[in-house]
Amino acid sequence: MAQNVRVRYAPSPTGVPHVGNIRTALFNWLFARHHGGAFILRIEDTDVARTVPGAVEAIMGGLEWLGLDWDEGPKVGGYYGPYFQSQRLGIYGQEAQRLVAEGWAYRCFCSPERLAEMRKEQMSRHQPPGYDRRCRSLSEREVFPGVAPVVRFKTPLEGETRFLDLIRGEVVVENRTLDDFILLKSDGYPTYHLASVVDDHLMAISHVMRADEWLASTPRHMLLYQALGYPPPHFAHLPMILGPDRSKLSKRHGATSIMEFREQGYLPQAMVNFLALLGWSLDDKTEIMSRQELIRHFSLERIGKTGAIFSHEKLGWMNGVYLRQLSLEDLLAQVLPYLERDLSPPVPRPLDRGYVAQALALVQERMRILREAAELTDFFFLADVEYPAALLYQGLAKGALEGSDAAARAMTALEAVVPRLKHLNSWDAASLEGLLRPLAYELRLTTGQLFGLLRVAVTGRTAAPPLFQTMAVLGRERCLRRLTAALGKLASLQASP
Ligand code: GLU
Repeated sequence: MAQNVRVRYAPSPTGVPHVGNIRTALFNWLFARHHGGAFILRIEDTDVARTVPGAVEAIMGGLEWLGLDWDEGPKVGGYYGPYFQSQRLGIYGQEAQRLVAEGWAYRCFCSPERLAEMRKEQMSRHQPPGYDRRCRSLSEREVFPGVAPVVRFKTPLEGETRFLDLIRGEVVVENRTLDDFILLKSDGYPTYHLASVVDDHLMAISHVMRADEWLASTPRHMLLYQALGYPPPHFAHLPMILGPDRSKLSKRHGATSIMEFREQGYLPQAMVNFLALLGWSLDDKTEIMSRQELIRHFSLERIGKTGAIFSHEKLGWMNGVYLRQLSLEDLLAQVLPYLERDLSPPVPRPLDRGYVAQALALVQERMRILREAAELTDFFFLADVEYPAALLYQGLAKGALEGSDAAARAMTALEAVVPRLKHLNSWDAASLEGLLRPLAYELRLTTGQLFGLLRVAVTGRTAAPPLFQTMAVLGRERCLRRLTAALGKLASLQASP
């Protein structure tokens, strides 16, 4: 690309960033990094009423979490801060005045009441809403003392506006469908249209890459570029993000805020990989790509026109892939804060790191998000496990056996297992297997039946990591205590049939 690539992410701080916003940020960042260009963060905070406290911090926090660093901006404490449009009001005011002076724009003194009345009438006549241009014919000198005017753009009444969207192709709009939109509000703040065009020019943005929903604004921007005498940048409107039911992605489809994903324990590298594939692909089949590979291959040509489907299922799978790539040491560091938070008393503190690591090694294969860690491993930490007694012998009840027969067989089996485990020479997975496999045969149980029974007794659940390794990590004392408790459960069942 001959031109110097300069792109921007320009969020409005009107809420916490959701995946759609961050996908826009990521595509801009990948494009900048691919071309060795600049990525700029610009906070579009000109709608004071809609500004939400904490939103800027959330935006910056989200970008930092994903490693999407920006390249310039006013220095704050040795780092680049974002640009804030609210700190650049003078610039927009000046450009708006210039447009008025040059006849491209005009002051409008219409009161909010008059505008409301006009809108009502338009609705009742089934006309499209839009300013009726009453003040367009006022002369420069006509002013209404005591009324703070807005500045409106003098949209051409005829002709058409066209531009090339790098994703959508040529877009053509008839000027008569556009109204005389506001550039400067009566409080002196610019509208989005004016501020974004002025800034994209002053910041020498080469490519404006933004969500599809802004496509309708671009013809107005093209008119403004022309009026202001700025050469327009390239435009690329990114495909919408949809839920699996193909409707616009929303809360209804599950978590959408980037902070929620962080909180639930998705890894930033998985999130980046996943978001990159929301509307872009390398070849329609490659799924797992590192940040470096994404940078190397990212191109506008491979961005789709149609909506991209956001699947939590796929994200979970992808996160699992990245979790499995972590060294045990790294996994431990990631998981510990979740376990500290989610393992509730009576699990004693502090958690023993060595023991946690052994437990994690056994569940790493199955974990999809860090938040699941406590649920997957709590039986390693609790003194006793809770479960209904019937779970112990359900595997033995299959076939002709009645429930009580099955319970009795389970008891017999446990009574045989306990003393042998007490005397097992060395407590490791291989020795446990060496003891228990032949024992199943001796007890006339299938290995599945015996191991299923033991699994429930020592973990309280029917699905758990491999039995012998689990028992090895749990340790002899804990296992024996739980097996004895299981025997107790079965005995009390026999006592009260
Ligand atoms: N402030 C707009 C937003 O919140 C930016 C749109 C654009 O990128 O031009 O999405």
